[in-house]
Amino acid sequence: MKLNERGLLIVISGPSGVGKGTVRKALFDMKNHNLVYSVSVTTRPPRAGEVDGKDYYFVDRPTFEEMIKQDKFLEHAEFVGSYYGTPKDKVEALLDLGKEVVLEIEVDGALQVREKTKDAVFIFLVPPSKKALFERLSSRGTESQDLVQKRFEKAEKEFKLAYKYDYIVVNDDVNNAADRIMAIIRAEHARTQRTIHKYQELMED
Ligand code: 5GP
Repeated sequence: MKLNERGLLIVISGPSGVGKGTVRKALFDMKNHNLVYSVSVTTRPPRAGEVDGKDYYFVDRPTFEEMIKQDKFLEHAEFVGSYYGTPKDKVEALLDLGKEVVLEIEVDGALQVREKTKDAVFIFLVPPSKKALFERLSSRGTESQDLVQKRFEKAEKEFKLAYKYDYIVVNDDVNNAADRIMAIIRAEHARTQRTIHKYQELMED
């Protein structure tokens, strides 16, 4: 790899309850990958076992709002009462180092990145069916029926935005979904526009 070759930005997104987090973890558990996870900033309180700087950078709302003002985010969104955002400088620095940077973010944020970035790969994760998503949202057991219904209705709207993505991957099985994403990443590396400059010599008379 040439020193100045920029890395690939991979955005994994999809509605709440589709299993983005689990699929992302399965992807990072795979062997022989070169992926780096972009740790987001959030105002949500840490859950048991979550580590600051590894799962998220946990900040308070004034800090987050100051970061918005200072244009520190590649994208940011409010989700169930908390802010979430992708730190721009960190992602840029990793891409400049040639890393493959994975964002795992909700749909609003992914579409902000789509607007701003030309050379990223956008993957929309879907459940096998609406019924499967509803059952998944209900079975979490941590939320009221009203909240489950709201999340489901939001997901129904978000499905209609799938056409804005480059790929749709079904999460019928976590490991299969991770395999499909890895196959997409590999294929993206062979995409002509990303690769042709390496082989100029072969194409010259
Ligand atoms: P959780 O609170 O369960 O960790 O995450 C809630 C939602 O926020 C998930 O859909 C997750 O993908 C999304 N999320 C995590 N980090 C970011 C981020 O930096 N930006 C956006 N837009 N969404 C994020």
